[in-house]
Amino acid sequence: MIENNDIKYDVIIIGSGFSGLAAALKLEQENKNLKILMIEADNRIGGRSFSKYLDDGTLIELGGQWVGPKHEQMLKLIKQFNLKTYVTPPFNKGKNLYFYNNTIQELPSAEFNALVKEIDKLTNSINLEQPWNHQQAKLWDKITFQKFMKNYKSDSWVKILIEKLIAPALVSIDSNKVSLLQALFYIASNGGFTFATSANKGAQNYRVLGGTWQIAQKIADSLKQTKIILNEEVTMIDDAKNQVIITINTNKNYYGKHCVLALSPVVINNIKFKQSLPKVCKSLLASYNSGGALKVHFVYSSPFWIKDNKSGTVNSCQGYISEVVDNTTPGSKKGILTVFIYGGKRTKILNFSENERKELLINELTNFFGDKAKAAKEYIEFNWIEDSWTGGCFVANLKLGAWVKYGEYWKQPIGLLHFAGTETSSYFYGYLEGAILAGQRVANEVIKNL
Ligand SMILES: Cc1cc2nc3c(=O)[nH]c(=O)nc-3n(C[C@H](O)[C@H](O)[C@H](O)COP(=O)(O)OP(=O)(O)OC[C@H]3O[C@@H](n4cnc5c(N)ncnc54)[C@H](O)[C@@H]3O)c2cc1C
Repeated sequence: MIENNDIKYDVIIIGSGFSGLAAALKLEQENKNLKILMIEADNRIGGRSFSKYLDDGTLIELGGQWVGPKHEQMLKLIKQFNLKTYVTPPFNKGKNLYFYNNTIQELPSAEFNALVKEIDKLTNSINLEQPWNHQQAKLWDKITFQKFMKNYKSDSWVKILIEKLIAPALVSIDSNKVSLLQALFYIASNGGFTFATSANKGAQNYRVLGGTWQIAQKIADSLKQTKIILNEEVTMIDDAKNQVIITINTNKNYYGKHCVLALSPVVINNIKFKQSLPKVCKSLLASYNSGGALKVHFVYSSPFWIKDNKSGTVNSCQGYISEVVDNTTPGSKKGILTVFIYGGKRTKILNFSENERKELLINELTNFFGDKAKAAKEYIEFNWIEDSWTGGCFVANLKLGAWVKYGEYWKQPIGLLHFAGTETSSYFYGYLEGAILAGQRVANEVIKNL
């Protein structure tokens, strides 16, 4: 039985990623009397923002790293906490490379721009609050993004390039596994094709000096009414009697008036709901594909590609590697190339040992940068799919048909349960900015209902 004096917290937030932290910050700003508890399963805060440092202090971002000029909340926090950004790619010179048909090719700009215009025309018609209400939603939710691209009439190889830039590079899942509606929603949510895919003035314009995790840490340090508990995994939620009982892995209970779930929908499925969620809600949560990206870093003694007039950016239409970027950090002599492998190719390459993976990828890097690419000093990877509290990398996406079937229940509160996390954001879905916006939205929702 729950006694009234068991209720110690006004709000219990599950997850200390950017969304949970932004929710706590906003709740504290709105009401100085609230008592908040944040429960985190991992031994650190930050969720999908996670940094590693080499022996000489060089920063490696294993998780979310880029920020763009439209990411207003991120930029506001960076300013508020006196953090600094720098423009990427760090040297901002040299050629971007496009690899197709075993050779480096010039980008056919006219064809590229025509296809981007076509895609942006469609994305502009999406209502970000209700993508399932689009007049073409039934059709677009049924067909894959791959099928849509196949039907696009063009003989140019930019068709393959753009298909890869959107799925899997943006939505982190292969184009035959994502609906046209989800792909268009994702692009629209992230400011259109050019903003979403660009460094220059786009979503990849800046990096945070010292790492994005610092923003999470600074938010946590600034919280006064929130108790943060690490290493406790929420295993069960009971919101039967106008109170929420949160049970953790040691069977200890916490009692609150409202609960914010600030985590990927994929991992919400690991939590047992004592009262059972409504059927549609369970179906919605079961309708997400985990993100399927692998981000790998090669560390060199110097950024040798700059002397060869190469920016370090590569988009490849073949092989395991889809993208390469120069991730060198200011103040470090080392050069870092970060490589992205997506979807089925990621699954395939993970069947090899780490040493074999390194060799396979270095072989591909020589296609772009020559034999100098063989001189990598360190190889660093982090397999997010093995992290049972993340639900994949970068972001979970709705499966085919799910928007139309369950869209109206997306991000809707259920009783005392409120859903945050970047996957519940209409704007900048999938990004750190989206995580913050979702946390702020849910904080307002809780305040209204307290
Ligand atoms: C490799 C990678 C690269 C990325 N690059 C970028 C980028 O450059 N720019 C960008 O803006 N975004 C990027 N992203 C996406 C960005 O990191 C995410 O959108 C954002 O971090 C999501 O924050 P969140 O708070 O919604 O979820 P999360 O960060 O996943 O936070 C959820 C938290 O909940 C905890 N948790 C889960 N289950 C439980 C449980 N049962 N009990 C208690 N706690 C639990 C988790 O441990 C985690 O800390 C990238 C992501 C990855 C993985």
